Amino acid sequence: MRSIILSSKVAKGDSEDPSLAPLYENAIRDTIERFEATGSPVVTDGEQRKYHNFATYSVHGLPNTAPDGFKIPFSDGHTRRLSRLTRGPFRYRRYADSYLDVAMRYAHVPVKQAVISPSALSLMYPAEKIPDYSRQQFIDDLLREHETEMRRCLKKGAYKVQIDFTEGRLAVKIDPSGHLLNSFIDLNNLALSRFSLEERRRIGVHTCPGNDFDSTHSADVDYAELLPSLFELKAGNFYVALAGERDRRHALRIIRKYRKPDQRVFVGVTAPVDPHIETPEEVRDRVLEASEYIPIEQLGTTDDCGFSPFSDDTSTSRDTAFAKIQARVLGTRLAEKLIGGH
Ligand SMILES: [Zn+2]
Repeated sequence: MRSIILSSKVAKGDSEDPSLAPLYENAIRDTIERFEATGSPVVTDGEQRKYHNFATYSVHGLPNTAPDGFKIPFSDGHTRRLSRLTRGPFRYRRYADSYLDVAMRYAHVPVKQAVISPSALSLMYPAEKIPDYSRQQFIDDLLREHETEMRRCLKKGAYKVQIDFTEGRLAVKIDPSGHLLNSFIDLNNLALSRFSLEERRRIGVHTCPGNDFDSTHSADVDYAELLPSLFELKAGNFYVALAGERDRRHALRIIRKYRKPDQRVFVGVTAPVDPHIETPEEVRDRVLEASEYIPIEQLGTTDDCGFSPFSDDTSTSRDTAFAKIQARVLGTRLAEKLIGGH
């Protein structure tokens, strides 16, 4: 959920102009107020400061990058691009805990913080290699930076830290052999292995088929190709887009089979790519459906994805986003009444 700041300076990419700080501050305050008003037990800052997009906030503006990096193709024909690393060493320019600082000043309920996965950023290293900076050196730096970011968010009191892993499903599309997905899982597990079991209970992973201008990048990839590997990730929580799936029970059967006993699953009950605003009853029915496959102590609800992961995607208005969140909250309560939840 972004698209609140209407400023030509931001549109030109100058999101760190100090004169914009009060605008961002207002945007974050307004988002948290409206989010809390829905009754959601956990909120976020709507990622207002990740202005350009959810994936590149940590590296945006680095001097050792070029814009012609990895291309993400979407189903409606448009593409998004990551930046390409031009020389070492690789360092983040900012860590997501700086967003958490501001959000926690305004929030009265727990705050979830999303961070980008090591696997997504690993796509910044070019195929042709960088002289004097090997891929292995890059991976070492990347994992250290990611770990630093995670620890800072955990230490500052993020209720959950969610690793955005939208490229998991995309990996199967790019490489149907599964090799790329496996390499992503291995890389992210190298990072997750650095955390204790207790810490991992506060760490989650988000999966979705992409979401931009109401289109997706990998919805045609069967969840059966992704979910078995996904649950190999050493995380305690999984935020799984499900509302927009054509066959939810198919996905739920796979989740039932591959979910580890200590892994909680938050199923998506609202679909940001669908302009229809879900009713609380629709949400309730989706929760009841999921409860046939996931023990209720391990079941939670979420939105399928952010409401505007890329800043210039205005396909979902803020009013629609909050109406969907409201439906999630009310529908989850209706289901809890029926099945006795927590
Ligand atoms: Zn997503």
